[in-house]
Amino acid sequence: MFYDYQYIIWVLLPSILISGFFSLRVKAAFNKYSRVASRNGYTGAQAARKLLDRAGLQHVDVVQTSGFLSDHYNPMTKKLVLSQDVYHGQSVASIGIAAHEAGHALQDASNYGPLRLRSKMVPLCTIGNTLGYIVMVVGLLMLYASGGAAIGKYVVFFGCGLFSLVLLFQLVTLPVEFDATRRAKEIVVDAGIIYREERLGMDKVLNAAAMTYVAAMVTTLLTLAYYIMRATAASRD
Ligand SMILES: [Zn+2]
Repeated sequence: MFYDYQYIIWVLLPSILISGFFSLRVKAAFNKYSRVASRNGYTGAQAARKLLDRAGLQHVDVVQTSGFLSDHYNPMTKKLVLSQDVYHGQSVASIGIAAHEAGHALQDASNYGPLRLRSKMVPLCTIGNTLGYIVMVVGLLMLYASGGAAIGKYVVFFGCGLFSLVLLFQLVTLPVEFDATRRAKEIVVDAGIIYREERLGMDKVLNAAAMTYVAAMVTTLLTLAYYIMRATAASRD
C-alpha cells in the first residue's frame, strides 16, 4: 500500500515537486531581497514594533526565534515571533515578513472572522490529518482483502470526509494569509517604514510565500482524489 507505485506517481511525486517548487521560490525571493536594504534602515523587529504600536498593540511582544523563515504570530500568547534573519535584517525582505506577521496581529485585534475560525479549526485539522488518513488506508485495504466488497468503499469515503477537514482548514487559511499580506503592503508605506518604490522586493517575497498555501491545498486535493478514484475502481459496485 505505502509502496504502491500508483500512489508514488500520482500523489507523492507531484506533491513533493509542487511544494518543493514553491518553497524554493520563497527561499530564492528571500535570499535575493534580503540583500536589498531599505532606505530608512529599519530592522524587521523595529518595523514590527512600530506597526504594532501604531495600531495600539503595545501589549504584543516581538520576540526572536531560531529557524529559517519560522516567523509567525501566536494569537494565544499575543507574541509576534520572528526568525533571526528577519528580526535583525534591515532588508526589504525582512521588513516585509515582519509586516506580514504584524498584519496577523492586526487581524487578531480586529476580530477578523477567518482568523478566529482558523484558530478554532486547528484540532479538527489534526483529527482529519491523522484519523482521516488511517481510515482511508484501512478502507482501501478492506476493499482489496474482500475482493471489492462495497463496505470498504464506504470506509474510504468516510476517511475522505474526515481528511476533508484538512482541506477546509487550508481553505480558511487562504483569506487569512492573503489579508495579512494585503495589510502588510499598506501599513509599511503608511508608517513611513518603506517607500512605495521599495515595495517591489517585499511584494515578491510575500506573494511567493502566499503561493505555498495554495500549493499545500493542491497536494491535499491530490490525496483525496487519489483515494476516491482507487476506492471507486476497486469496488465491485
Ligand atoms: Zn501568515
